[in-house]
Amino acid sequence: MDAGGEHFIVNGQKTWTTLGQHADMIFCLVRTNREAKKQEGISFLLVDMKAPGVEVRPIITLDGEHEVNEVFFSDVRVPAENLVGEENKGWTCAKYLLTYERTNIAGVGFSVAALEQLKAIAAKQTKNGRPLAEDPAFAARMARVEIDLENMKTTNLRVIAAVAGGGVPGAESSMLKIRDTEIRQEISSLARRAMGPYARPFVAEALQEGYAGAPVGPAWAASAAAKYFNNRKLSIFGGSNEIQKNIISKMILGL
Ligand SMILES: Cc1cc2nc3c(=O)[nH]c(=O)nc-3n(C[C@H](O)[C@H](O)[C@H](O)COP(=O)(O)OP(=O)(O)OC[C@H]3O[C@@H](n4cnc5c(N)ncnc54)[C@H](O)[C@@H]3O)c2cc1C
Repeated sequence: MDAGGEHFIVNGQKTWTTLGQHADMIFCLVRTNREAKKQEGISFLLVDMKAPGVEVRPIITLDGEHEVNEVFFSDVRVPAENLVGEENKGWTCAKYLLTYERTNIAGVGFSVAALEQLKAIAAKQTKNGRPLAEDPAFAARMARVEIDLENMKTTNLRVIAAVAGGGVPGAESSMLKIRDTEIRQEISSLARRAMGPYARPFVAEALQEGYAGAPVGPAWAASAAAKYFNNRKLSIFGGSNEIQKNIISKMILGL
């Protein structure tokens, strides 16, 4: 706080801010009490991205995209009225928000669409003169993913029902996040395998809508590698999957 008690003075750096280059506001969890325990003494502040002292620096990822940024805060003056909830109780707000973020990251709908695309690819690609979809080992992996995804749809409905009933997504959002991100990664891995050597060229532009380049091999192969690498983030962001396992063991198993 400044001497007048009207502003928080924010200093620090946030690595990995998805699409922050388009934002006009950012919410920050800032330390407001250094004496408190780790998750206490944190406050939830809304910061104007155009405020003096806020600087956004791009991070260009392996697929050539500008999806994430580093945001630097140097003596940024944030009006006290931009505090959300009580001072030093920001982690309570953050935990609530994160359950929604994790449900969203799980993205069951994305997996459904990706599986449909994988099935179409496996029907067209051939192995020893037969469609790949008929290869027992490949078919078994696709079936495993499909069964897991059916289970995820049910878990997703449980989260939606809990919210519709006035509740909040609890540990289910962590379960969804772990399993569905694994499923999405497995689907993108199977898609690459299905295309064999055609999945090797790394054509980052193929991720852009309306891409009209000439791919090596089938049209869908051009974006396979970029999608595969981009999907590595799924088990990290929104809280890594290992952390989700810790949450589940605490909330459900009481460990
Ligand atoms: C592409 C991308 C986009 C992102 N976008 C955003 C964003 O928009 N906004 C935002 O706020 N953040 C964003 N993040 C940050 C993301 O939420 C963190 O990277 C993530 O929560 C992991 O935290 P960390 O990087 O500090 O890793 P660390 O906590 O340092 O973890 C490193 C490794 O140690 C493991 N680990 C750490 N602690 C434990 C433990 N107690 N038990 C078991 N294992 C443990 C982790 O699982 C991980 O494997 C993004 C990250 C990426 C990669």
